[in-house]
Amino acid sequence: MAVYNLGSIHADWFYKVPRFPVNGETIPAANCVSGLGGKGANQSVALARAGAEVHHIGAIGGEGVWAAEQMKSAGVDVTHVAIQIAAPTGHALIFVTPDGENRIVICPGTNRMIEASDIKAALARAQAGDMLVMQNETNGQVEAAKRARARGMRVIYSAAPFDVTAVQAVLPHVDLLAVNEVEAEQVAAALDVPITALPVPELLVTHGPRGASWHDLKTGETLTVPAPKVVAVDTTGAGDTFVGYFCAGRDAGLPVAECLELAVAAAALKVTREGTADAIPSLKEVRSFLA
Ligand code: ATP
Repeated sequence: MAVYNLGSIHADWFYKVPRFPVNGETIPAANCVSGLGGKGANQSVALARAGAEVHHIGAIGGEGVWAAEQMKSAGVDVTHVAIQIAAPTGHALIFVTPDGENRIVICPGTNRMIEASDIKAALARAQAGDMLVMQNETNGQVEAAKRARARGMRVIYSAAPFDVTAVQAVLPHVDLLAVNEVEAEQVAAALDVPITALPVPELLVTHGPRGASWHDLKTGETLTVPAPKVVAVDTTGAGDTFVGYFCAGRDAGLPVAECLELAVAAAALKVTREGTADAIPSLKEVRSFLA
């Protein structure tokens, strides 16, 4: 089957700074690197590296063509990534101090300018049983989810970054909700129910270095997988790697336990590497890590 990902595309700019500047101060960065990021792009790259057929739905500015090219070279179909001239490509300015603390400013840019007609055109190619993956860094989730379900697709939603209004609007149209522990608490608090009573058929919760759990909220079945022990150097994109690998496994029809095992292994490999999209491992690397 195929996976359609309505997702953000960011240029991530990392600045290593000796400390955060105070009001009115200008300081030089010790080092500056940029690369492809954004929850949507990361998940699409993870899906493709895990072997899925993935069609990204999104928007970039005229200066962001390199980002779509990079996604394409990772195996993502970018036919439905539109160029919008009215805004810059979404980007994140990430300041990191020597103790590993960070402060981040995101400019959503074109990620919030995805045309309804582009979503409609992309999903017109989808078939029953295909998957729609979404996060909270774009516009258009409710419209896309309704359209996907009308076509018999399965809808997967990463409620990140957490946004109460978005969660309340999108959740009724979702088959699987993917969250980290903090987001799980936030979603449950927003809906005023325990986590195990969330109104969604399946729930996937990541627990950082402790692994992840999957819950069938209709039957009460739960599967928990510990994360492999690794030396973590950069956890950016670990959650996206996990979600991409898990969804690729489900799309390929693998049992849930195997999807979890592949996803925790892929995310563990990611955290041993610096970088975001470019640090997501291939299925071959994940399989040899597990062997
Ligand atoms: P991020 O925002 O950093 O991408 P997240 O907050 O969405 O991550 P986490 O629960 O922190 O999600 O991590 C996602 C998955 O990554 C975990 O379920 C785990 O499999 C893997 N992971 C994260 N940190 C580690 C670690 N230190 N060692 C091994 N695996 C890890």
